Order: sequence, then C-alpha cells, then structure tokens
Amino acid sequence: MTDSITIALSKGRILKETLPLLKEAGIELLDDIEKSRKLVFPTTDPNVRVLIIRATDVPTYVQYGGADLGVTGKDVLMEHGGEGLYEPLDLNIARCRLMTAGPKDRQPPQGRLRVATKFVNLARRYYSSQGRQADIIKLYGAMELAPILGLADEIVDIVDTGNTLKANGLEPRELIEHISTRLVANRASMKMKHQLLHPIIEKMGVAVERRRTEEIA
Ligand code: AMP
Repeated sequence: MTDSITIALSKGRILKETLPLLKEAGIELLDDIEKSRKLVFPTTDPNVRVLIIRATDVPTYVQYGGADLGVTGKDVLMEHGGEGLYEPLDLNIARCRLMTAGPKDRQPPQGRLRVATKFVNLARRYYSSQGRQADIIKLYGAMELAPILGLADEIVDIVDTGNTLKANGLEPRELIEHISTRLVANRASMKMKHQLLHPIIEKMGVAVERRRTEEIA
C-alpha cells in the first residue's frame, strides 16, 4: 500500500519520549496504550498506523518493510547492522553511552579477553577494530554479574549514570559509542512513499531541534 504508512515504536523507556515527538508531527494514538493489549494502533492520521514492539525487533520490521518508519536506539541499530535502513533523524532522546566495563581496580588481561554482552555483533566488531582477541559470551540481561562470577573479564553494556556498574563493583573502561534514539526508514519506502514520509520526518526534525535549543537556553 503506497497510500498508508506503518511506524514501529519501541516499547519501554523510549516510548514515553517518542509519543510527544510524533504528536508534533500530527500523529496521535487513538487508544490508551497503558490500557490496551493491542500491538497495532490506529492514529489520528487515517493513513498512519503504529506498532508497539520490542526495541530489538524494530530494525528487522523496518528492514523487511513490515514498517516504513521505526524508532529505536543506536545500540540496537549497531547490533542489527543497519542493513536496508536509512537513518534520517537523531531524536536526541534516551542518551547514554555504550562502554566496556570491568571489575574496579583490575586491569584487563593482556591476552585473549572474555567478554559478556547482549551486543555480540557489535562487541565482536569493536574488539576486532582494536586488534584485541575476544571470546564473546551472549547474555540476555544482568551483564554486571558475569565478571563477578568469573564468567568474563569485561562486559559491553549501556551506561547512563554509572550507578549500576558501581553498585556491582565495576567501573567503565572504554567508550565505544555515544547512544541516542534514532528514526529509521525502510529504503524502498523512502523512494515509493516519499510524499507521505517526508513531512513526518521533517516535522519530527523541527520538534527535535526546538527541544535542543530549549535545552541549551
Ligand atoms: P545507569 O545505572 O544509570 O548507568 O544505567 C545503566 C542501566 O540502565 C543499563 O544496564 C541499561 O540497561 C539501562 N539504561 C540506561 N539508559 C539506557 C538507555 N538510554 N537505553 C537503554 N538502556 C538504558
């Protein structure tokens, strides 16, 4: 359908900050997301529907055209690889850092490293770019436990205040990337549905820019 568009949003911490930006682009959900168990929501724009799904699934939906636009973190996009996606806008929300971290006051070993993370692709690329040999261990959460229990020498994880690391006897080591939430678009949709997508991207861009200047002021 070239006359309608689907936007995939990440549920969880990003969602609350994304909805006001969409509203400024003229798109509001018709249902109360807190009360509804729906996954697909109609909006005030009859041509636009919204999916609310896991952040890690957003790039996949957009890549394969299940959604035309998506909102997710740069960490998720880096792990996915970004194939088939444009990244037209940095929404400048949920800012944090992707870092390596290890036990406080302990140097990482010189030779092969064991690294626990949920970002296995990204971690593999990072250590290889640093010329470090690393065995990457996939975990789905609570990465901070891995060095404490001897599972790994380091972790690769999201750091905001650093409190989670500190509470578990870890400290940040290297900065891999500054992270924020991004708007992504399906490459084919950008061509076929340009007239529908362009105003949304533009209006969201204006809203982001206004917030940025308000933040500085
Ligand atoms: P902090 O203790 O403030 O450093 O927060 C770190 C934890 O919160 C990490 O383990 C992350 O899972 C989570 N976190 C913080 N900020 C973000 C974000 N912007 N996106 C995703 N996860 C985050």
